[in-house]
Amino acid sequence: MPEGDTIHFAANRIRPVLEGHVPDALETPHPRFGRDRWPERLSGRAVRAVDAYGKHLFLRFEGGLTIHSHLRMTGSWRVLTQAASPPGTGDRGVGGMGYHHSPRSAWLRVRRDEREVLQFNGPVLELMTDSRTRLDPRIAGLGPDILAPELDTARVLRRLREDDPTRTIGDALLDQRTIAGIGNVWKVEGCFAAGIDPWRPAGEVSDEEVLAILAETRPRMQRSAADGIQDRFKVVYGKAGRPCPRCLQDGRSSLVKVRGQGDGNRPTYWCPACQA
Ligand SMILES: [Zn+2]
Repeated sequence: MPEGDTIHFAANRIRPVLEGHVPDALETPHPRFGRDRWPERLSGRAVRAVDAYGKHLFLRFEGGLTIHSHLRMTGSWRVLTQAASPPGTGDRGVGGMGYHHSPRSAWLRVRRDEREVLQFNGPVLELMTDSRTRLDPRIAGLGPDILAPELDTARVLRRLREDDPTRTIGDALLDQRTIAGIGNVWKVEGCFAAGIDPWRPAGEVSDEEVLAILAETRPRMQRSAADGIQDRFKVVYGKAGRPCPRCLQDGRSSLVKVRGQGDGNRPTYWCPACQA
């Protein structure tokens, strides 16, 4: 599932290919870009920076233009090494469905030397001016990035306390205006790791408990952002009906439950015995 760690991993892979360089070629094969003329508008411009913020990725070009991407549930980034390379070193998909696409179905292809950066299935992929990236409420309104070098926890708590206190803590953690980068997988695993019931109203979860969730989640996401392997952190996610591993270890027996949460009805896995 593309969450903040997926996007930071993608940015980390794209950066050495493009940052500081003028791409050899840039194409938008998808028909939706028919008259947008990205290749002409970006021709000859170097990529100034490749960065991730929460679940957003930015390719910033010289001349004040930026490609902004958000993968939602369906999109993916991929970095291909066109030269022959051992499996797993040059062409691992980033995000949901990177593996089996033809480059011709990509929304964006950016090539430099032997390497190619590809974006598949959008769904948000747009070229905007730098000033718009600063003003766009979807971007300007984001809370602190959980993967920022220094996480501003005071600001996270402030934003959380300004939000509806009756909202469940699990749902509140998904609000990118409170904290950017946490998606449904990390919400589930963070609450489980900290032993917090995701169904408690946010207003009844103490600052210390919120900080405990963040302290459990951040290092796991940092590791996943470094190597792109998110699945190994799924302890209860997707495990409905199976014994809770923590209860099992303590000699108790309890089954992981699942139920849809929040406006998005996101499947929320938890153990009713050890998450208080
Ligand atoms: Zn349990």
